[in-house]
Amino acid sequence: MANIELRSVRKSFGAFEVIKGVDMDIRSGEFMVFVGPSGCGKSTLLRLIAGLEDITSGQLLFDGERVNDCAPSRRGIAMVFQSYALYPHMDVFQNMAFGMKLSGAGREDIEKRVKKAAAMLQIEKLLDRLPRQLSGGQRQRVAIGRAIVRDPRVFLFDEPLSNLDAALRVSTRIEIARLHKEIGNATMVYVTHDQVEAMTLADRICVLRDGVVEQIGTPLELYNHPQSLFVAGFIGSPK
Ligand code: ADP
Ligand code: MG
Repeated sequence: MANIELRSVRKSFGAFEVIKGVDMDIRSGEFMVFVGPSGCGKSTLLRLIAGLEDITSGQLLFDGERVNDCAPSRRGIAMVFQSYALYPHMDVFQNMAFGMKLSGAGREDIEKRVKKAAAMLQIEKLLDRLPRQLSGGQRQRVAIGRAIVRDPRVFLFDEPLSNLDAALRVSTRIEIARLHKEIGNATMVYVTHDQVEAMTLADRICVLRDGVVEQIGTPLELYNHPQSLFVAGFIGSPK
């Protein structure tokens, strides 16, 4: 079943059209990766799905229901950005608990969920630290943990590893892949311009070019049968 459907989705900023008619399904539980050159509209597409930007025309459906006008907080999504955006004055526990607190969850429930997410990400020992007392990799884990705690049906990642050094990028990437397996039914939509990340994480890859979908397929399909030189160039296969 398709969890997220985009139908002729367009987005303009003033007279400048950035997303030029995107049609695609993202299946329930799927790990979908958006790749494409800088400025092709990856972040914008993610922000449209999140509801952080309004769609100019077209339809966006979650589980068959139109969500064009549904507020971001009611879409059941959690977003992890490239910069960690943690609250500097709150410790790790409070950072992770904040969303649940806002939605009125009870103390015991919050504690249980935060501890479970912290264990998943191996940050249990850091719960009383402030963000500035953490490394970049640890901060990004907290940001991911904060998303997990909210128990979303869809995770959106916008280049979550690009601020990390090479070694941390690899370990955090493995962590995200493990997370997807562990959480089971969560749908993940992940933006990157890193081809290795795309190839190793994705169930399917969507190659974007200048606001349109150039090709969607499994990593192997794109590698073996790129539909254009552009895709071949991006995926790294000889065409
Ligand atoms: P990507 O994430 O693929 O690098 P973006 O989605 O961030 O690309 O941006 C796509 C295009 O849309 C860029 O040309 C960018 O300058 C433009 N853009 C993004 N957000 C806005 C905005 N709020 N106002 C005007 N232009 C924007
Ligand atoms: Mg971007």
